[in-house]
Amino acid sequence: MTDSDANHLPVTVVPDRTLRVKIIDACGLACTFCHNEGTPVTTDNLGREAGQFTGTPGRSGRVSIYLSTNSASFLPERIKADSDFASALAAVRGSLPTTEVHFTGGEPTLHPELPALVRIARRLGLTVGLTSNGENGAAVLPECAAAGLDRINLSVFGTTPEELAAVQAPRLASPKLAARKPDALAATTEGYYGVRMYRAQNGPFMVGVCIQRMDLCLTLGEFVMSQRCAEVRDFREEEAARLTALHRSAAVPH
Ligand code: SF4
Repeated sequence: MTDSDANHLPVTVVPDRTLRVKIIDACGLACTFCHNEGTPVTTDNLGREAGQFTGTPGRSGRVSIYLSTNSASFLPERIKADSDFASALAAVRGSLPTTEVHFTGGEPTLHPELPALVRIARRLGLTVGLTSNGENGAAVLPECAAAGLDRINLSVFGTTPEELAAVQAPRLASPKLAARKPDALAATTEGYYGVRMYRAQNGPFMVGVCIQRMDLCLTLGEFVMSQRCAEVRDFREEEAARLTALHRSAAVPH
C-alpha cells in the first residue's frame, strides 16, 4: 500500500467514552513488551514501597516496560465484584461522559468473578468490552456473553508456537510451552490509551489518565472532585474535534 492509497482509506472518528478497568494483575503469559496497564507486576513487587517498584523481570518473568517513566505509585489488586466497584463505576460515569467499560489486566479471563463484573457494569447501563489473550476464554466467555459482554479484543502475539515463544520471557520461551496458548486461543470464539481505573492493594480505587504514559494518577475521590476531571473531559472532546477535522474528507458517515 502506498501513502497515496492510505490517504484514501475511510476513517471514522468517535469521541472517547471508555473507561478501562484493570480488574486483575495475573497473566499466564510473560510478553517481553508488556506495559501491564502502566502498573508494577504485583507478585514481583510485594513488600516494596512506592519508589522501589521495578518493571524489569522478577520471579514471574513478567515486565512493565514504562514503569521507570510513569507515575505508578501503588500495586494493583484484583477488583471484587461488589458494591464498592459499582459505586466506583457510578462515580466515574457521573463525572466524566462514559458509555463503555473495557476490562483489562493482566488477563481478564483469569478473574474468577468476571461474569459478575460484567453484570455490574451492564446494570449501570454501560456496554462492556475486554481485551484477552484468550488463554481462559473457552471456560468463561460463554457465561460472560450471557451476562451481557458486548465485545472482545483478542490479542494474538504469534500464530505459531515459535512466534509466540520469540516474544516471551525465558520462563515461557520454549515453543512447546508456548504452544498451549495459541491452542487455547483457537478454542475461544487493541497512541492514546485514555482513562483507566485500578484498585490499589489494601487501598482506594485509583484513576490513571494515559496520554503517552500514565501522565496522571489520583485516587478516585481526588479525581472526580478535582479540576483534572474537567480537563480530561475537555481534552477528549478536543481530540475528537481535531481528528474529525483532520479526517473530514475521508470520514465515513454514521
Ligand atoms: S498477554 Fe497481555 S497482559 Fe499478559 S504478559 Fe502478554 S501483553 Fe502482558
